[in-house]
Amino acid sequence: MVGIMLSVVLVWSSWLSYQENPTTLILTKSVDRMCVVPAITLCPKTPYKEDVVKELLLKTTVKETSNLPSETPDNMLYSPKKYKGLGLYKASWEAFLQFVNVCKLLAKTNNIYVSNTRDFTNEIQASLDKLGLANIDSSDQINVSSLRTLLRDKEFDSWCTLPQKGKGVILYKEYTPGNKWLSKPNGLTSSEWKGATKMTANVCPVRALPGRSQNGTHCRHCQSEKETLAHILGACPHGELLWNSRHHKIRSLLASALRGKKLPSRGGGPWFDHKWMYKAH
Ligand SMILES: [Zn+2]
Repeated sequence: MVGIMLSVVLVWSSWLSYQENPTTLILTKSVDRMCVVPAITLCPKTPYKEDVVKELLLKTTVKETSNLPSETPDNMLYSPKKYKGLGLYKASWEAFLQFVNVCKLLAKTNNIYVSNTRDFTNEIQASLDKLGLANIDSSDQINVSSLRTLLRDKEFDSWCTLPQKGKGVILYKEYTPGNKWLSKPNGLTSSEWKGATKMTANVCPVRALPGRSQNGTHCRHCQSEKETLAHILGACPHGELLWNSRHHKIRSLLASALRGKKLPSRGGGPWFDHKWMYKAH
């Protein structure tokens, strides 16, 4: 009898609490335990967008494992590898690309029942619109691979337009064989690769990057200019010995590579003009 009375009191007090705060239900007053009331959490028909969740998981995992800061532009992740992008899988593209693929395969079967019940041209065009490729005619001979390339190129263009992190990115298009190290880091250690990737994305912790310093944007060593990556790598007197040594090292490498070729030299010696080396390269 006492048990029944106690249960009634507990249920009644919980019910009163529920009326005051319908999102939570206090189980007991003595212990501060709260739980979400399942009855008032209406499950939507589509609880979440699977492709968005996959995309988020994938890109955060790649950033974590590559030691890239979270501010690394997503455009870089999806840009083509030949332009120093990571060429990452993008789930929100693949849903529509695979749909286009399926439609094209079904259209090829020439099945009378399928062709009379489906309008493949319009369905493909709708997918292209969703992908932001409305200017492409669905009746053209398109394939998924070329569409993916177009989408990756668009990501690269967007990366170039970023005000801070897109500076100089357009230059990655100039000499594409020089971008191979990103996908095939032969001879680079893991930390070297990570550092170089950060420089590529312009997310190195230099003071000129917005939000990276509370003591101004000028160089922490020479104070003469803004602390940008270009200043550190090519102008700061603090690292003068290092960048001079880098210059001499590269010059020697180029000179030894060109020595075997029949190129004009000055004074008959194995000396090559910088301009010549640049052209030959
Ligand atoms: Zn400096």
